[in-house]
Amino acid sequence: MRILVIGSGGREHALVWKFRQNPENTVFAAPGNGGTAGLAQNVSIAADAITELVDFARRKKVDLVVPGPELPLTLGITDAMNKAGIRCFGPDAYCARLEGSKSFAKEVMAEAGVPTATCATFTDLAAAKDYVCKQGAPLVIKADGLAAGKGVVVAHSLDEALAALDEMMTKKIHGAAANTVLIEECLVGEEISFLCLCDGTNALPLPSAQDHKAVFDGDTGPNTGGMGAYSPAPLLPHQYLEHMADLVIRPILQSMARRGHPFVGVLYAGLMMTADGPKVMEYNVRFGDPECQPLLLCLESDLAKLMLACIEGRVSREKLACTRATALGVVLCAKGYPGAYLKGMEISGLEEAEKDAGVVVFHSGTVQKADKILSSGGRVLCVTALGGDLAAAQQSAYAALEKIRMPDSFYRRDIGAKGIRFLQGD
Ligand code: AMP
Repeated sequence: MRILVIGSGGREHALVWKFRQNPENTVFAAPGNGGTAGLAQNVSIAADAITELVDFARRKKVDLVVPGPELPLTLGITDAMNKAGIRCFGPDAYCARLEGSKSFAKEVMAEAGVPTATCATFTDLAAAKDYVCKQGAPLVIKADGLAAGKGVVVAHSLDEALAALDEMMTKKIHGAAANTVLIEECLVGEEISFLCLCDGTNALPLPSAQDHKAVFDGDTGPNTGGMGAYSPAPLLPHQYLEHMADLVIRPILQSMARRGHPFVGVLYAGLMMTADGPKVMEYNVRFGDPECQPLLLCLESDLAKLMLACIEGRVSREKLACTRATALGVVLCAKGYPGAYLKGMEISGLEEAEKDAGVVVFHSGTVQKADKILSSGGRVLCVTALGGDLAAAQQSAYAALEKIRMPDSFYRRDIGAKGIRFLQGD
């Protein structure tokens, strides 16, 4: 199959790596990165240049397009590819609003009866402030639209909540994305990522995963795109996946189908496992980064074939083959991330790190210049390893990380610790 992967992060490197496991596949990456360069043909087209991507896919007779990030999906890449007769694994622009508009997602959740935090929606600052004062802290303030993962403030005090409203609604730090603001009940519990491959009607659950959003150890510091992840997450073992799909995924598929837009692609529920049961905090309409990296390390099935089964509405006939092992990925970042950070640092030791069995170094923000790999992003690598259990995967990923050298870099030292504590019953 000829496959075009869209995006330039660790998730896209993992997708390319997975597709290349089938020697019959030819893979293009637009624009790709230093890691995809060795496995695919990198094409310098931006992930949001929809018309150019359609032209490229048509010219190269691509059989399957796989958008990694949300932006091309919300911009309607699936609609555009389908119009050109090209198969694209991802929801149409209407369904992508489940991620592109948090108020839309809330509306669908209410219609579908999916458990979620109570919430009120505002376009008027005074009314929003009044509501915050009546509710009291803690509260969660969210920009309705896409805000590069920075549109959510968990406010522990009234002052923080009011300041967040001012930033979003008066200073417009997220632009039009915060024209509408959601104010949500603050949920307490462990966070789990739950992803399903969907064909419009049916859902095939993938193993659960746990991401780590905060930049520093112990879940402290500002939120990032994700500092590390493991799969499966002990809190949501395999035997509960079908039940979880019935609770938070299949009702959404029914609602979207009723609205005349069957959801095809990855539907990802960001869950909080509260004392009252699981509640959905958000939906994403694509793989998470870095959850995708450990997930794909665990997946034994042919991913491209599964994606085609989704597009052709026959995922209920598919079974997922996964290793019984656990995979864990740790993200190596440039100093300063998630704020301003340096670029262009040389990375060495990559080959050595991958010599260990079960280790794959996925590139998140790198470029290849001559024979060198240089950093080009805040998140630079996701060093991912398979192990017999979570502790073994953790040990292996960190051992591999120690072999990699990059000036002005850092990583969290505690990816996996929460899961190991849970397994030990602490
Ligand atoms: P979201 O983009 O909605 O998933 O929000 C990003 C992060 O904010 C989540 O991963 C949680 O850590 C936190 N968060 C979002 N909604 C809530 C909520 N209702 N209660 C507590 N934390 C939340």
